[in-house]
Amino acid sequence: MPLSHLSHRSRFAGALATAALAGVTALGGTAAYADTTVTNQPAATLPTPPVPANLPAAIEPLQPYVPQDSCDPADKPGVQAFANLLMATYKDSGSYGISTACIPGDVSEHHEGRAFDWKMSASNPGQVAEVNALLDWLLKPDAAGNQAAMARRFGIMYIIWDRKILGTYRLSDGWRAYSGVDPHTSHVHFSFSWAGAQKRTSYWTGTVAPVDYGPCKVEGLSFAPQDDGTPNPTACPRVTTSFGPMPAGAPAYLAALRTWSGVILRQGSSGPAVTAVQQAIGTTADGAFGPGTASALQAWQTKKGIPASGVTDVATWRALLGQPAPAPSPAPAPTPAPSTPPAPAPGTASTPMTEPRRDWQRPRPAPYASRPVHSRPAPPPLTAPAPALPPYIAGGPAALQPYSTTTLQVGSSGAPVVALQKALQVTADGAFGPQTQGAVQKFQSAHRINPTGIVDAVTWRALMRAALLDPYRTMTLQVGSTGPAVSALQQVVGAQPVDGQFGPATKAAVLAYQQSRGLPATGVVGLREWLALGA
Ligand SMILES: [Zn+2]
Repeated sequence: MPLSHLSHRSRFAGALATAALAGVTALGGTAAYADTTVTNQPAATLPTPPVPANLPAAIEPLQPYVPQDSCDPADKPGVQAFANLLMATYKDSGSYGISTACIPGDVSEHHEGRAFDWKMSASNPGQVAEVNALLDWLLKPDAAGNQAAMARRFGIMYIIWDRKILGTYRLSDGWRAYSGVDPHTSHVHFSFSWAGAQKRTSYWTGTVAPVDYGPCKVEGLSFAPQDDGTPNPTACPRVTTSFGPMPAGAPAYLAALRTWSGVILRQGSSGPAVTAVQQAIGTTADGAFGPGTASALQAWQTKKGIPASGVTDVATWRALLGQPAPAPSPAPAPTPAPSTPPAPAPGTASTPMTEPRRDWQRPRPAPYASRPVHSRPAPPPLTAPAPALPPYIAGGPAALQPYSTTTLQVGSSGAPVVALQKALQVTADGAFGPQTQGAVQKFQSAHRINPTGIVDAVTWRALMRAALLDPYRTMTLQVGSTGPAVSALQQVVGAQPVDGQFGPATKAAVLAYQQSRGLPATGVVGLREWLALGA
């Protein structure tokens, strides 16, 4: 049973109650709350991360809400370090990861490597207690009465857990109801400020980091450039980009250019944004930004009269989109940004609107079965409706493996049935009844297995394969792609080594697979390939 609404919402208040139990009165933020080891509190028996000896007396301010506005899915060091700290402190916890591929229109700090999904289950009482211990530790006041002291020293911006969200920019509101698609009962989401993400905050450095507003979008482009590590002390002006209808006769790649505009592409970049740029500058459109693309881009830049940087900087995007460069004279400035844009006030109307309504998804959830979420989809104007996907098999293959020699059918019960039900995302009551049978038949039909409703060796194998692949089935992989999706692909196409790096050997294995299945030999893995492979 998950925590009750009340106890959850009042977790922050709980820290104050803890102080009261310790015989200390916590009032008005000036309380002498000194004791962190409180007896008679279950949480006190659980470990919390170490507190560095060199913490300064000063502390970071409560972080403002600075949402994702660049496309930069590389894990940031402060987030990695925080993830490692939690997993070292709570050995039974895990990670659902940090970075995810950018999805145009989906605002999530995961797309900037600024968010961590801590794998903890709200239906596991032991893990709930551990999450509570950690959250209490993060959110209680320190000896000087600084609220949410440790959260500030990490630069935490907001936390989502078990249908609740707490933003440091709205701390006085405490835990609020979270209505995103994913209830966050399989993980705790932490989003970090740029200072926290870049590991510049006082927990790590012993020195208080000023607020860093990160990279700012520019007028007329969809994404801000990637963060270059230089702190930005000024809130970004609010920029809304709308391109209007496609001009008649516009090339098809213009839609993709608009979608990805602003992303700094350079040698080593890959994916649909690179493909669109390659098409626009008239070089081989293979989606991989190599030396050939760099020199083609430099020649194109020279022809357009802009600096031959060989990267897609702002001037290049404007030229690619056919936008006029901003007028150099101060007279009719097209971008009347205030010189000192005001920071968004906590709790303003913009805050709830711009907060993420859904977190991106990893190895779970039924609601996602029919919607590709962590993909890099083609831009909306060009996208055909997503094909219906087979049921999503959750939890990974390891949870199924121990039971894969046990035949299950109506009337079966126990741990193997629970594992099966969790994978199929039906009620995990351990009793194989009609609901489970129906879900098995649906899975079998979708995977071209005779829909008997009986989980035999063939069905177990298909389930484990789907469980391995399903987290990635909406991603596009090609030469240059890296990460766990590539490792999973390498396992099923027999590419060696399984190292998570999509190189020539993996491409060769994919080509061989495509040919063996009568698929177009592209060397690129998209939904068609994932489904053929058993996702
Ligand atoms: Zn998340």
